[in-house]
Amino acid sequence: MLKVGITGGIGSGKTTVCRVFEWLGIPVYYADDRAKWLMTHDAALRQGITELFGAEAYLPDGSLNRSHIAGRAFQDSEILKKLNSLVHPAVHRDGEEWHHAQNAPYTLREAALLYESGGYRLLDKMIVVTAPAELRIQRVTTRDGTERVAVEARIAQQWPEEEKVALADYIIRNDGETALLPQILEVHRRLLPE
Ligand code: ATP
Repeated sequence: MLKVGITGGIGSGKTTVCRVFEWLGIPVYYADDRAKWLMTHDAALRQGITELFGAEAYLPDGSLNRSHIAGRAFQDSEILKKLNSLVHPAVHRDGEEWHHAQNAPYTLREAALLYESGGYRLLDKMIVVTAPAELRIQRVTTRDGTERVAVEARIAQQWPEEEKVALADYIIRNDGETALLPQILEVHRRLLPE
């Protein structure tokens, strides 16, 4: 069973494309969502986060104190690095277990920063979803009311699209002009065993 990564910049349409793969019967591991879940539910990870950020890392109801963690992590790149060094291996372990529990020709792992994190090196193939920056900004501001400057700041933190494209095995253009479905079907066809 091949392990395939799927990534793309903010608002490129990764999740939208993954929904189609799911519809084709391909299991998708949404790594960013799962990371958030594990930060609350994985005992070892909770302990590591509490050691790093103090008891305020969690609210009295047990949920993650996102504003405390984000505030510290974005002010101090060392803390962010340490947080990533706790979260990435936990998600990796969890994702491996999940992968081995599937029964499909291949599985997909969706994450925004698969290249930036180096996670792509552990995957067999990579799909990159692309879209022009202006369209991505419009999609995200419309989707959840995020301010344009916040989306631009996120784009500036991510690798430029052309660097991801250069390393990709498959590219899916979600530019609002190229038909999406035939591209997804073609990638799916190429990923199925001969
Ligand atoms: P993020 O990095 O923020 O998680 P993403 O890459 O997963 O974003 P999506 O959430 O799939 O992107 O798409 C962003 C928004 O754009 C969504 O509201 C989605 O419905 C819309 N969208 C994506 N692709 C298309 C398309 N081809 N046509 C119309 N709307 C689209």
